[in-house]
Amino acid sequence: MNCKNCTNRLSAWVDGELSVSEAERITRHLKACPACRQHASELREMSAALDRLPSLRAPSALSRRTLKAYRMAMERPGMADWWQSLNLVMRSAVCGVALGGLLCGAVLGTSLVTLAPTGSAGPYQMLNASEGFYP
Ligand SMILES: [Zn+2]
Repeated sequence: MNCKNCTNRLSAWVDGELSVSEAERITRHLKACPACRQHASELREMSAALDRLPSLRAPSALSRRTLKAYRMAMERPGMADWWQSLNLVMRSAVCGVALGGLLCGAVLGTSLVTLAPTGSAGPYQMLNASEGFYP
């Protein structure tokens, strides 16, 4: 085992989450590697410090609001939730923007396409003309 592999698995080793064989490989590496041993020591100290922190309980009102928001988010899928969060003015604005985009697309689409080819058409133009495009 090299230091990179050891470092990647060290936190799991400290937390006792590795298989016996993998934990033994880490332990063997730590016996031979002072740098990784130091890293393991720091991880154990940090884990112990976190364990000493007092457990906190969220205020009941916050818990209720959080659970209510979570349930509401789970009940409504994304777009419907977004749409329902808009008031009438915003819904009208969204519809206006969508219609404006459609109109712009229609105007640009018809102004960029020449409906009747001019002059003699080459093979490329004939091919595209058969598909409805006139470059
Ligand atoms: Zn190492």
